Amino acid sequence: MSRAGWEVVIGLEIHAQLATKSKIFSGSSTAYGAEPNTQANLVDLGYPGVLPVLNKEVVRMATMFALAVNAKVAPRSVFARKNYFYPDLPKGYQISQLELPIVALGEIFIPDADGNKKRIGITRAHLEEDAGKSIHEGLAEFSGIDLNRAGTPLLEIVSEPDLRSAKEAVLYMKKIHTLVRYLGISDGNMQEGSFRCDANVSVRPVGQEELGTRTELKNLNSFRFIEKAINIEVERQIELIEDGGKVVQETRLYDADNDETRPMRSKEEANDYRYFPDPDLLPVEITDEFVLAIKKTMPELPDEKEARFVDAYGLKADDAGILTASRPLADYFEAVAVASESTAQLAANWVIGDLAGALNRDGLDIADSRISAADLAGLVNRIHDDTISGKIAKQVFEAMWAGEGSADAIIKARGLTQITDSSAIESVVDKVIADNPGQVAEYRSGKDKLMGYFVGKVMQETKGQANPGQVNQILKDKLKG
Ligand code: ADP
Ligand code: MG
Repeated sequence: MSRAGWEVVIGLEIHAQLATKSKIFSGSSTAYGAEPNTQANLVDLGYPGVLPVLNKEVVRMATMFALAVNAKVAPRSVFARKNYFYPDLPKGYQISQLELPIVALGEIFIPDADGNKKRIGITRAHLEEDAGKSIHEGLAEFSGIDLNRAGTPLLEIVSEPDLRSAKEAVLYMKKIHTLVRYLGISDGNMQEGSFRCDANVSVRPVGQEELGTRTELKNLNSFRFIEKAINIEVERQIELIEDGGKVVQETRLYDADNDETRPMRSKEEANDYRYFPDPDLLPVEITDEFVLAIKKTMPELPDEKEARFVDAYGLKADDAGILTASRPLADYFEAVAVASESTAQLAANWVIGDLAGALNRDGLDIADSRISAADLAGLVNRIHDDTISGKIAKQVFEAMWAGEGSADAIIKARGLTQITDSSAIESVVDKVIADNPGQVAEYRSGKDKLMGYFVGKVMQETKGQANPGQVNQILKDKLKG
């Protein structure tokens, strides 16, 4: 099997759980992790005679999303019933939007293989309710039904088939993930299933206009699985076609344990959902004033922030991208940059390097950083004013992380101040030269590489505290002889 000659085509349907306190059509709590069936009321349980009431918050959140992806907010959208039977769906239908979704025709940009911006079309985004959950684990002879999730609000975001590789699909998914968290409309928690996607995958010979037959990979809830599942499915399809077979349109499941995709149901067995407008719910009507009012509440978006970090702080584009991946991280960096007297790039290096490393090591979020932004700025300032070298700063950083106090306090307590007195450095250099006559002779006969050896010796003598720039300069001068 070879991928040469084949083009991959992918469209994603992302389900983002909206971060409302109560459900989309009832007053039950949406909080995760409660005892089964303690957060489902008569509406969620599908009792006859009860009526759904739309939670206004979901309209606000969908509108924010529309504005963020440059989409149209439908002045009128309609809830429909999608009819099917399943034990976790007591009503016998799911309320969703079909023909008139609340959001249409948006776009978002991802970096392509050459680092240019690539536009990914967003066909639509619609509101719907989630179903309950069937539970099999720990139950020997029967299945359990937990309806806490029934009626939880979802925004389903459907992309155009514009993605051309598993990598692009992941980049797109990450973009949307960052965006919904910036907007505060979803917590994006993938372990809890608050952010997941179905990936539609097809292949076609390069140059062919017509799309190939697609399969749909259901319920992928980690970036790693999305990439793996798509790649496995692409290879399966190419192999199948090259062996003279045909792809059948069907729903497949990714099995991570065996790293394969397996059929779930084919198009022939697909349900006819008999969609029709829900007679219990009025169409949602959105006025221009409402949209305008929401526009005023929009936060700075990730792309805007990234561009500003490059313009205002002179950051490298890649670094600005990393630092704007989440709002708390961006805010932390900005607090360091504002409080430090040096360049923002030095602050960025410390946030992306040592700080991110320490957070990762201890499994902490930026919000739980053991070093405050103000304290990290204090460390960056001591590097900038040459009190300590970058190398010594790493030692100070670890002490700060361990809770030993501010950079200044640690530098003082440990006597780490950098030696910048040239005569002090000169006398150490003299000693090193006197102690190593053989190496000095070799260096003078052209073995330049020995410079590192001498620098190392001087640093050893000064416990790493001599200013490296000065050490280099003085060594060069003295070794000339
Ligand atoms: P459905 O309603 O059956 O799920 P849609 O036409 O709404 O189908 O498409 C769902 C998703 O599948 C969209 O993200 C779309 O971009 C994608 N898609 C449609 N056709 C193809 C194809 N041939 N290959 C890959 N993705 C596709
Ligand atoms: Mg679909």
